[in-house]
Amino acid sequence: MKQKFAQFMYGRYGMDELSKFLSYFSLLLLLISMLFGNAASVKSVVVLIAFALLIFSYFRIFSKNYEKRRAENAKYLNFKRPIADKLRLRREMWAQRKNFKFFKCPSCKAVLRVPKGKGKVRIVCKKCGTAFEKKT
Ligand SMILES: [Zn+2]
Repeated sequence: MKQKFAQFMYGRYGMDELSKFLSYFSLLLLLISMLFGNAASVKSVVVLIAFALLIFSYFRIFSKNYEKRRAENAKYLNFKRPIADKLRLRREMWAQRKNFKFFKCPSCKAVLRVPKGKGKVRIVCKKCGTAFEKKT
């Protein structure tokens, strides 16, 4: 059985980040669809989208067109990176909120970290050199 599966998967693209995302997202949609118990039409649309995504993810996994699948995955990763970076920054800010205050540089929008409880301080942006005063 295991060998048969390995034989079947031979030369096929397999799982990647995009397919992983598509399968998780479609499961999430299926869970969400359960919330629309009374709105049958909304529910069926959500279920349909979920299955379409699931089928697309399996189509990608079993695909033999490596080049196209890799390009899709690269596009997905490029799209995801800034969002993931922002989420990571939010998590770090939250974890350090007791000891640090965070400010956005008024000119380049970089996030700057300043120790808390130092009174009014002059902050110089590490990225662009803009200086501004803030209370910490
Ligand atoms: Zn700046």
